Amino acid sequence: MGDAMNQAMNDKWDGRFLDLATFIAEWSKDPSTKVGAAVVRPDRTVAAVGFNGFPRGVLDSVERYQDRPTKYEMVVHAELNALLSTRESLEGYTLYVAPLPPCSQCAAATIQRGIRRVVIAMPAELPDTWAQKWEISSTMFAEAGVEVCVRPPRTRAG
Ligand SMILES: [Zn+2]
Repeated sequence: MGDAMNQAMNDKWDGRFLDLATFIAEWSKDPSTKVGAAVVRPDRTVAAVGFNGFPRGVLDSVERYQDRPTKYEMVVHAELNALLSTRESLEGYTLYVAPLPPCSQCAAATIQRGIRRVVIAMPAELPDTWAQKWEISSTMFAEAGVEVCVRPPRTRAG
């Protein structure tokens, strides 16, 4: 019974932080892909949030986002932005991501910062390119001993 209650509590908080990541994703100026991330401490307080975008001070014009080769070279992914947004130790923290899974580079940074758990809201059927990325990064998480929880996409109220 205690375990069931703990599980229900964990599910409730996972849902809340996935809602937060889903909300933060909307802050991205990238017209084609918007991803949000939140780094959460074991006491369920938020250490950092991030969304995909260019580094601070780098001109983030619509034209640049439409020029895909330039965009891919300059953009900082949501997960990496969140991981870089705080100088505190992230050992044992949880990373929340929506609505797409981390790529291998973000997975690498997540592992190296000591994140122990990754919770992702994403569709069951991913586009091919993302399915391939996720196959690689999920393998990395498994080998590094990072717990991964995959949930359905969050539906935004209002
Ligand atoms: Zn990434």
